[in-house]
Amino acid sequence: MIARNSSFLIILSAPSGGGKSTLVNEVLKVAKNIEYSVSYTTRSPRGKEENGVHYHFVSEAEFLKRIDEGDFLEHARVFGNWYGTSKSFIKSRLAKNHHVILDIDVQGASLISATDIPYVKIFILPPSMQVLKKRLMLRATDSEEEIAKRIQIAKEEVTHIPKYDYLVINDELEKAVQDVLAIIRAEENRVCRYSHPCEDFINIGENQ
Ligand code: 5GP
Repeated sequence: MIARNSSFLIILSAPSGGGKSTLVNEVLKVAKNIEYSVSYTTRSPRGKEENGVHYHFVSEAEFLKRIDEGDFLEHARVFGNWYGTSKSFIKSRLAKNHHVILDIDVQGASLISATDIPYVKIFILPPSMQVLKKRLMLRATDSEEEIAKRIQIAKEEVTHIPKYDYLVINDELEKAVQDVLAIIRAEENRVCRYSHPCEDFINIGENQ
């Protein structure tokens, strides 16, 4: 067989309220070779969020201890709370040849790009700022002040789009899911995902 080192990180960033979690859930339902990286955070659970499923909710003291122990592949402070990606989780899943999908902010995405772990970075954007505001208000989990803060931060976050490999407009969910799946499929077939395709191709069958 032509050997492929196909596993990589799928880094998704979007302004808060951009519909990213729904999109990620839909992608995970279809693609069985992808796992979700559950981040650690010091923020409190929102709505129906469950510990260990949506986030690992930890105290600030535990988070800082984990930073000291080198547990995070990246960590960043977002909206006044800490968020971090577990290094051991990522390494173990990539070693099993699974892709790992990460829902992280623009700072975390930059930090991971600087490592030698293969990745693809996708920015997810609602069709307009107006739609983003509407989605944040419909979510009804944040105060008016919090929503205003998230809108302000969204304006800064979109300036990072040029550093991403792909931009998916999340207008219709089904189309956005198909776009993300198409990107993953294309990325799997990049020449760099194969270790030595020419040699493998030539040798297959020759030695049998
Ligand atoms: P929320 O509190 O709305 O779930 O997430 C706030 C922001 O933190 C989002 O932009 C989300 O992508 C980001 N985030 C979630 N987990 C991580 C993480 O592990 N690392 C970083 N850098 N950002 C994260």
